[in-house]
Amino acid sequence: MSSQIGETLTYPVARGGIRPEKDTFLGGENPLFSMMARFEEAAHHLNLEPGLRKVLSMPERQIIVSIPIQLDSGEVEVFTGYRVLHNTARGPGKGGIRFDMQVTLDEVKALAAWMTWKCAVVNLPFGGAKGGVICDPTTMSMTELERLTRRYTTGIIDGLGPDSDVPAPDVNTNERMMAWIMDTYSMHKRHTVTAVVTGKPVQMGGSLGRREATGRGVMISAVEALKLRNLPIAGTRVVVQGFGNVGSISAELMAAQGMKILAVSDKEGGIYNKNGLDIRDVLAHVKQHKYLKSYTKGDRLTNSELLELECDVLVPAALENVITDDNASRIRAKIICEGANGPTSADADQILLDAGILVVPDILANAGGVTVSYFEWVQDRGGYFWDEETVNNRLEKIMVTSFQEVAAMAQRSSVSMRIAAYMVAIDRVAGVHRLRGMYA
Ligand code: NAD
Repeated sequence: MSSQIGETLTYPVARGGIRPEKDTFLGGENPLFSMMARFEEAAHHLNLEPGLRKVLSMPERQIIVSIPIQLDSGEVEVFTGYRVLHNTARGPGKGGIRFDMQVTLDEVKALAAWMTWKCAVVNLPFGGAKGGVICDPTTMSMTELERLTRRYTTGIIDGLGPDSDVPAPDVNTNERMMAWIMDTYSMHKRHTVTAVVTGKPVQMGGSLGRREATGRGVMISAVEALKLRNLPIAGTRVVVQGFGNVGSISAELMAAQGMKILAVSDKEGGIYNKNGLDIRDVLAHVKQHKYLKSYTKGDRLTNSELLELECDVLVPAALENVITDDNASRIRAKIICEGANGPTSADADQILLDAGILVVPDILANAGGVTVSYFEWVQDRGGYFWDEETVNNRLEKIMVTSFQEVAAMAQRSSVSMRIAAYMVAIDRVAGVHRLRGMYA
């Protein structure tokens, strides 16, 4: 049986470690608390030895940099940036860089650990890392963003490299910024190093299929979850929160499978049509008008109303902490397929489990992005390019195999898919630590 999560758990705090506070994140659950609650529960089921619990609950390295840049106005501003390497036992640190006003060190630490577990769930030879810069990119010009990206890269450059730490895009960063990171790193190394970053433009070593990879992985996970529950795929009613890279592509690919997308949203709110939205038409609208709010072929609704719509599959693909103990009991989906990182608070897990809702956890459902990032890294290092069909076929094989491994672990250990995914991942990382031994 799954143990209660939340208050009842104790944390393995290494000497000098800091126990995460539960409610220190914008009034919501601290993502580091959410990550640790699941880690601790999975470690308990695995009977993980106390030493490894301590090792795996602490990041290997945390870098904080001040990033001074000159704004277009001539004024100097200093931003704060983080890069955290959680664990590199299985390979180089891998994880995106986020530009957002809400970035905190705890959030970056949680996201870095989630990358360790995510890479291990899909069995990639990578560890976990994450970066973040506290800034509001919507108020900055392209030249300011370029200076910020390059100076941040220079601040963390000692730890970067194809064999040590390989960034990628995340919230509010894109292939343009990855190109600047690659160029800055290459200028310092005095030769071009494409494999230092993934999610690059295809013309400079990016992979075909990378832009769609996370959404494709979400779609594949949703299809596997429907099969697991013996539910039909055609006509499945889907609700998607977030209409950026992950949300919009998940919606488009799920619609292409014959599913009916009832509602989608962005930060300004959502649109709903009980007969299903024409996602291509919605995408064309967003391309022109940026937000969904002026779309007229559907009713408007708030993000909280959207999460509580009756549907078969709910895909949260925006932010952390949108399904919490406040609204979990009102969720009327049969399956939640987590496109975002950390959309469900640890408190909500038990409520969803008791309600019989199948949750495909973030570290499995959204692992398509890092999987194709791995393909990009492999192609760059081999100096070879795969066609899109090869990329998509290999991605599908990895996603389906990983889903089945997690489902089998859930069945065997009588735990949720989330705890099973952590168990698969922790077991793989711990296994490598045992083989490598403790260097002193
Ligand atoms: P994005 O910036 O492209 O899109 C984010 C979307 O969320 C936008 O539509 C935005 O309007 C919406 N949004 C922002 N605030 C919101 C709010 N308060 N309520 C509702 N919607 C809101 O980002 P993305 O790359 O699609 O990432 C979304 C999530 O998926 C993040 O949690 C990210 O860490 C995760 N993720 C992304 C990738 C990837 O490859 N891009 C991979 C794995 C996980």
